[in-house]
Amino acid sequence: MRPEPGSVTIVGAGIVGIATASWLIRRGVPVTVIDRDEPGSGCSFGNAGGICPGSCVPLAMPGMLKKVPGWLLDPEGPLFVRLAYLPRALPWLLRFVRAGDMAAVERIADALRALHAPTVERYRELTAWAGCADLLVERGQLFLYESDAEREGDAFGWSLRQRRGVALEVLDGDELRQLEPAVAPFFTTAVYLPEQAQCLNPHRLVQALAARFVADGGRIERGRIDALVGGGRRVTHLRCGANDIPVETLVIAAGAWSGRLLKTAGIAVPLEAERGYHVTVAEPEVMPRIQSTWCRRKFVATPQETGLRFAGTDEFAGLDAPPDERRAMVLLRHGKRMIPDLGDTRHTTWMGHRPGTPDSLPVIGRDPRFSNLLHAFGHGHTGLMGASVTGHLIAQIVVGEAPSIDLAPYRIDRF
Ligand SMILES: Cc1cc2nc3c(=O)[nH]c(=O)nc-3n(C[C@H](O)[C@H](O)[C@H](O)COP(=O)(O)OP(=O)(O)OC[C@H]3O[C@@H](n4cnc5c(N)ncnc54)[C@H](O)[C@@H]3O)c2cc1C
Repeated sequence: MRPEPGSVTIVGAGIVGIATASWLIRRGVPVTVIDRDEPGSGCSFGNAGGICPGSCVPLAMPGMLKKVPGWLLDPEGPLFVRLAYLPRALPWLLRFVRAGDMAAVERIADALRALHAPTVERYRELTAWAGCADLLVERGQLFLYESDAEREGDAFGWSLRQRRGVALEVLDGDELRQLEPAVAPFFTTAVYLPEQAQCLNPHRLVQALAARFVADGGRIERGRIDALVGGGRRVTHLRCGANDIPVETLVIAAGAWSGRLLKTAGIAVPLEAERGYHVTVAEPEVMPRIQSTWCRRKFVATPQETGLRFAGTDEFAGLDAPPDERRAMVLLRHGKRMIPDLGDTRHTTWMGHRPGTPDSLPVIGRDPRFSNLLHAFGHGHTGLMGASVTGHLIAQIVVGEAPSIDLAPYRIDRF
C-alpha cells in the first residue's frame, strides 16, 4: 500500500497535532492523524488554558538552584521528585541546571518570545474557522505577590519580558482588588499583563478543531504506534500492532511520549514527563474573572466553563507511574487560601504529562537524518500557547514556504 501523494501523517491528536493538522488541511494538504486515544485525551485535556504572547521566561533561571531544596522539602511545595525515579531523571535535571546560566536564559527567552508572540492571533484564526471563538477570552493575566519585596525578587524575570516588548503594569493592593476582587487580601501587589488570553476549555478546543478538520476532509484514526521504520534517509512505515502504515511526510506530535517513539528510529532526545495536576471546582461561590498566578506557590487559578481550575505542580515520576492524588489536594488547599470565598469545593482532579525539554524550548522542524520526518513536540509548560504557532510553522515547511520565524533554536540536534 502506498501513501497518498503529498500526504502528511501526524502521530498525536493533542493540541499540537490537531493544530498542525488544522493548518495543513486549510492549505489543502491531505492529512491523517493517528492517536491511541480520542483527540485531546493527553496533556492537552486539562491544562490551565493560558495563551500568553508574553510568556518568555524559561523554567531554569539564574539563582534557581538555591530555591530547589526548599521546594523539595516543603510537602506543599511546587516541585516533587519520586526518589525511585531520581536516577532516571538525573541526566535531564543536570541539563536543566545548565540551561539556567545567564547567557542561555537570554537566548531561550528570545526564542520563547518569537514562538509565543503571534499565538493569540493564530488562535483567533483557528477558533473562528472551527466555530469555537467563544473559547478564547482576552482579559489579561495577573501575577500575585504577598509583598513588594517578593515582587522585586522576580525583577529579572519581569525585565526579561519588558526587554522583549511585553506590556505589563505593576498594581498595588487597591488596584489589584478593583481588577480582581476574588483574591485574598494578603496579596498586596501584582503584575498585570493585559495582552495575555486564555482558553475556557482546552479539551473542547482540541475537539472543536478536530471536528472541523474532519469536516474538511481530514482523517483521524485510532491506533498505538509502536515504532518508526526507516529505510535509508526516510521513515517508510509506522508499526502499529500487526500493521505497517506507510507514510510520506511524518510529523511526530506525540507529546511526552515522543522520545520513546523516536528511540525506535535511533533518535535520542532529552524529554521528561513533567507531571502536572489540576483540581477543578465545579460550582465555586465566587468565580475570578482573570487568570491569576500565585507566584510563591507557583500555581494558577483559571476561570473555566467547567468550573474554577487550580493547576500546577512539577512532578518527576516518569510516564508510567500512577497519579499521586496528594499533589492535587495540595492545589486545592492553596486554592482555598487564594480565593477565600470559594464556598462549595466539590471538584474533579486530573494529572497530565507535560513534554519537557531541559531548556524549556520545544523541538520544531525537520529531522537532520530522516528527510521526511518533522518534529512538533516538547512544549513543556507552554504547549497550548505554543501549538497554534507550531502548527502554522509545520504547515509552512510542508508547503515549501519559508517559516515565519527562524527555527534554529528549536532544532532537535541542539542538545
Ligand atoms: C497542570 C498543567 C497546566 C498547564 N497549563 C498550561 C497553560 O496554561 N498554557 C499552556 O500553554 N500550556 C499549559 N500546559 C502544558 C500543555 O498542556 C502541554 O504542553 C500540551 O498539552 C502538550 O500538547 P501535545 O499535543 O504536545 O501533547 P498531548 O496533549 O499529551 O498529546 C499527545 C498525544 O499523543 C498520543 N500518543 C502518544 N504516544 C502515542 C503512540 N505511541 N501512538 C499513538 N498516539 C500516541 C497521546 O495519546 C496524546 O493524545 C499545562 C500542563 C499541565 C499538566
